[in-house]
Amino acid sequence: MTKVFINGEFLEQEEAKVSYEDRGYVFGDGIYEYIRAYEGKLFTVKEHFERFLRSANEIGLDLNYTVDELIELVRKLLDVNGVKNGGIYIQATRGAAPREHSFPTPPVKPVLMAFTKSYDRPFEDLEKGIYAVTTEDIRWLRCDIKSLNLLGNVLAKEFAVKYNASEAIQHRGETVTEGASSNVYAIKDGKVYTHPVNNFILNGITRKVIKWISEDKNIPFIEETFTVDFLKNADEVIISSTSAEVMPVVKIDGEDVGNGNVGDVTRQLQDGFNEYIKTHSL
Ligand SMILES: *Cc1c(COP(=O)(O)O)cnc(C)c1O
Repeated sequence: MTKVFINGEFLEQEEAKVSYEDRGYVFGDGIYEYIRAYEGKLFTVKEHFERFLRSANEIGLDLNYTVDELIELVRKLLDVNGVKNGGIYIQATRGAAPREHSFPTPPVKPVLMAFTKSYDRPFEDLEKGIYAVTTEDIRWLRCDIKSLNLLGNVLAKEFAVKYNASEAIQHRGETVTEGASSNVYAIKDGKVYTHPVNNFILNGITRKVIKWISEDKNIPFIEETFTVDFLKNADEVIISSTSAEVMPVVKIDGEDVGNGNVGDVTRQLQDGFNEYIKTHSL
């Protein structure tokens, strides 16, 4: 049985319970990360926990953990659960307190929870590509925070599932922002375009890795907004996330992207990503 970490304890799943007053449950008042393990090693884990602490700081949540302590914690959980290839979900909420919108005074102890899942890389989808649909971005204006408030993302993803697609690419008006749980890239004439890092998107760690790879391989990486029309007329489209990696999108709203096959720039980025797995896992 796999164990769950809650506030310092490694518990059996059926013992892993939190209060009905937990503010994560009542308000979505918390933040999270999702980290990948390859061959028992953590991929870009420092970047993930730096972002975790940034998210906490942005919502005024004092976690009392350093990046190194968090790394140690998830490494222990991986060990306890014997995970080689898989993922670690970790979240922190503002704790349990009588239901009041404003922060509890005095503050209560945050609830830190983490669990693991074993699974392989998505090799088949990485080879063939996935389908996506487009949908209006109805989320709030602080999408840079990896918040537990995911209702907009949940509804977008469900819309994708309804149309037999794997991801919903969101747009605010004509401007493409990001996927329900991924960043989005349009590749045109050998250049990679993606939404700039600001409050409208989550600053993906995989996005950062793709930027590094582009620099290594002299592929122009252009952080500018683009339209839905530009996306649909791109030569290649990819989405990226910790679990999806560098994922080709070969159909959008039922129409082929480019010639409908996975393109050359995408393959170069995927090759680069495989190298980064080797060099950035510890
Ligand atoms: C987590 C997430 C991503 C991808 O970030 P990674 O760090 O690459 O996993 C993109 N968009 C949203 C909305 C996310 O929640």
